[in-house]
Amino acid sequence: MLRQPMLLLAKSQAVKRLVTTVPVTRAVVARYVPGENTEEAVETAAALIAEGMNVSLDFLGEDTLQEAQADATVAEYLRLLHALAGRGLTASAEVSVKLTAIGLRLPNGDKIALENARTICQAARDVGTDVTIDMEDHTVTDATLDVLHELRREFPETGGVLQAYLHRTEQDCHDLAGTGSRIRLCKGAYDEPADVAWRDRHEIDLSYVRCLKVLLAGDGYPMIASHDPRMIAIAQRIADDHGRGPGGHEFQMLYGIRPEEQRRLAAAGESVRVYLPYGQEWWGYLTRRLAERPANLSFFVRSLMSR
Ligand code: FAD
Repeated sequence: MLRQPMLLLAKSQAVKRLVTTVPVTRAVVARYVPGENTEEAVETAAALIAEGMNVSLDFLGEDTLQEAQADATVAEYLRLLHALAGRGLTASAEVSVKLTAIGLRLPNGDKIALENARTICQAARDVGTDVTIDMEDHTVTDATLDVLHELRREFPETGGVLQAYLHRTEQDCHDLAGTGSRIRLCKGAYDEPADVAWRDRHEIDLSYVRCLKVLLAGDGYPMIASHDPRMIAIAQRIADDHGRGPGGHEFQMLYGIRPEEQRRLAAAGESVRVYLPYGQEWWGYLTRRLAERPANLSFFVRSLMSR
């Protein structure tokens, strides 16, 4: 019931200004966002890698409407990749990039985002790692997949994301399940209209399983991004049916969500990657996480009111 209002808040600049100027306890945000700068992010990545995880780092930011901000985001990714290489972490650490953070919503945005993504992909390749292009709301699905398609001509190792809640996604899975492709399958985090997406949890789960079947039967490298124990168990069964060993796919979860399950899967020999967001632009990301779990919302509100 609270999901929609929370997701509306994610887009509200007024509420964002209000809440982010309150000195929210670091602990509340830190549950999901372990650092505000490169050094903190790299430290957290190193600690997770030492525990046997892989990571994907995301410099927070989205819906950039200024070219200078898009350029600054690209510069931060280059700094991050350099820092990861300096610590010898690039075998286990990749980066995730939102195209609207690097210019997709600017005039001529598809060209700007493609050029910026190319710069990040080249820097990632230079230090021996990869990039995954995150998926945002449905207004940019086609543009994001077009950029991914272009990028993969030059950087075939680039990963993409598909969201099971969209009606189109099962077909997109068929299109992207081929050799060499790396596709992260998630349920989807945005408030989407009923003409493009399922809104009922059960329908979304059914779609997730259909998409899992397509990706796991394909020749690519599926990245199963879910905290849902049922989806994880089903994925393991389908992967077994196709004779996929742990090297043939991976499980992904967000930093701070079900960490004990992340460790359990890794200890059981599964390949596990933790999505690790960092930076000061945590508002949109945090509200999406709170929308997924209203119990966390009351914790957040209580911490604001106790200030
Ligand atoms: P749910 O049914 O939402 O949750 C299953 C269980 O997980 C819950 O019962 C609860 O125990 C636990 N849980 C879930 N969320 C929380 C939470 N916030 N706090 C505490 N416990 C929780 N979405 C996109 O739209 N685009 C992306 O590019 C994208 N990338 C992602 C990358 C990764 C690695 C992951 C894990 C998710 C990503 N998502 C992305 C978010 C995703 O779409 C879902 O919104 C989110 O993962 C919740 O769905 P779920 O599959 O975990 O299942």
